[in-house]
Amino acid sequence: MNSQKITIAIQKKGRLFDNSKDLLLKSGIKFTTSGEKLLARSSNTNIDILLVRDDDIPSLVSKGVADLGIVGQNVLAEQAATNKQIVAKEILSLGFSKCRLSFAKPLTSKLRSLKNKSIATSYPGLVKKYLVKNNLKSNVIKINGSVELTPYIGIADCICDLISSGATLEANNLIEFKHLMDSQAVLIAKTKFHDIERIDVLNLIRRFEGVINAAESKYVMLNADLSSADKICKLLPGADSPTIIPLQEKSKVAIHALCSEPVFWETMEKLKKNGASSILVMPVEKILN
Ligand code: ATP
Ligand code: ZN
Repeated sequence: MNSQKITIAIQKKGRLFDNSKDLLLKSGIKFTTSGEKLLARSSNTNIDILLVRDDDIPSLVSKGVADLGIVGQNVLAEQAATNKQIVAKEILSLGFSKCRLSFAKPLTSKLRSLKNKSIATSYPGLVKKYLVKNNLKSNVIKINGSVELTPYIGIADCICDLISSGATLEANNLIEFKHLMDSQAVLIAKTKFHDIERIDVLNLIRRFEGVINAAESKYVMLNADLSSADKICKLLPGADSPTIIPLQEKSKVAIHALCSEPVFWETMEKLKKNGASSILVMPVEKILN
């Protein structure tokens, strides 16, 4: 793979780093990062990895300094809302760093609407867009960190910030009251590729998809009576045409299936109740469809 050099920008440190690195390594791109180095060269593919702040990724990709980048949808959307030069396009959802951008207010606040309020946020572009769309006039205050403290020091009536588990809100006696957008890490790409580059990038995307699909998939093996095989196959979540193998004991079969949806304990218990035995659920490393 990769006759043409491809450069991928990822976050240097922070919430996106571990999963971004993991995705590249599982996709067969070997590289090591060390200290303050901005560039890591892959030792087995023609890929360079740029290690930067997540805020720099949309512009590096838009300018073509990097061909691809991994960044939160929240960062891409905010920058695209305020800067016309951000033209990088989202090409693949990566399924990690899931969070939402929401409005929150102090538990004691009587606030019911955003109208004529002061809203503190690190996402002024997205908040202003939301206010315009909903025909609301309010004061948006840009704050870079500790947004959750602003309602308590008289700077704002409410905030608009990223929430994942809600623990930070709870710790600061804040309550979410309006949702603005969902976000997760995405692969973004520059807008123009040469033909050869395009082929390499498509191959790379296929590998990323293989890793993402595998993360959600499980390989299930079990034994059952031949008479209950149909019923059991229907219970296997997201299984596409399971394999049924005869066993030495003529009335029994082994059923093997790739399940594209999670296999919970409840599913396994249901399988057992319907006559399955020796149920094995195994992780899948890579899938190439
Ligand atoms: P950098 O130093 O690279 O600028 P940062 O401090 O801006 O990093 P992080 O806190 O590492 O950014 O978050 C990176 C991304 O992780 C966010 O933009 C968002 O997409 C995602 N994320 C997921 N959950 C949360 C959360 N609870 N709070 C903040 N970001 C989250
Ligand atoms: Zn950042």
